[in-house]
Amino acid sequence: MKRIADSLKVRGRAVRLAKWDPRATPGCKDKEEAAERLAKNLARIDTLQYRLYGETRRSLLIVLQGMDTAGKDGVIRNVLTVFNPQGCRVWSFKVPTPNEAAHSFLWRIQMAAPARGDVAIFNRSHYEDVLVVRVHGLVPRSVWSRRYKSINMFEAHLHEHGTRVLKFFLHISRKEQRERLLARLDEPLKRWKFSDADLAERTRWGSYQRAFEEVLARCSPKHAPWYVIPSDRKWYRDLAVSEIVVDALEQMNPQLPKVKLDLKRLRARLAR
Ligand code: AMP
Ligand code: MG
Repeated sequence: MKRIADSLKVRGRAVRLAKWDPRATPGCKDKEEAAERLAKNLARIDTLQYRLYGETRRSLLIVLQGMDTAGKDGVIRNVLTVFNPQGCRVWSFKVPTPNEAAHSFLWRIQMAAPARGDVAIFNRSHYEDVLVVRVHGLVPRSVWSRRYKSINMFEAHLHEHGTRVLKFFLHISRKEQRERLLARLDEPLKRWKFSDADLAERTRWGSYQRAFEEVLARCSPKHAPWYVIPSDRKWYRDLAVSEIVVDALEQMNPQLPKVKLDLKRLRARLAR
């Protein structure tokens, strides 16, 4: 069976998001198959994170980006909760505080990077500094256009430190976003999530897609490529993310430290 990771990985330089179908489900037949495979992947992630934590040598960074309602929170809730909280942290990056804004854009990001043995999940990330910042012109082009290079250098630095960087762009259609925003109005339990600001961002759909295309094209080196996750179907989105995480952890193949113990002597000391 072809691994999902292969078909969703960004390669090469030019990316046209119009050519990536948000409803596609490459490598998986239907919802039932997805549920079965997701359960297996979660069990595998559990085992591998245990080894990563015990090894205490390397770390995993998962970056989630996407338009409003694309499912960043959903992926965390449905898939990434598999990680033992002892060894995992979620960071949600919002509009920078005055203190954060007084530093370079990577300052708050570096502070959140995972320690050896740990997993860090970024709900939004340093990429906002070439997405929302670019679309809204919060800094001049001459400033944000240099950031792609800074980001690539930063991620290369993390990679050299032993951090595996996985970046997921949750790709939804404009039509699907409309459905999900309507659901936030219609369903009382979802209303708290509704934000007027999301409607304003929605009017800039095209500018965001172009900003994402540039991110995907310019920041997908071999050691830290983007994955475009078709996300109109939540079951496929969750399966794809889980499978790519499994593959990355399998490749890392973390090992529990080898211990030499004189079992006989130690057991004797515990004789009573
Ligand atoms: P949410 O993810 O819905 O809680 O919203 C967080 C908001 O913070 C989004 O509108 C982001 O675009 C915004 N945000 C995150 N990082 C930055 C940044 N570096 N500069 C400006 N706005 C940001
Ligand atoms: Mg929001």
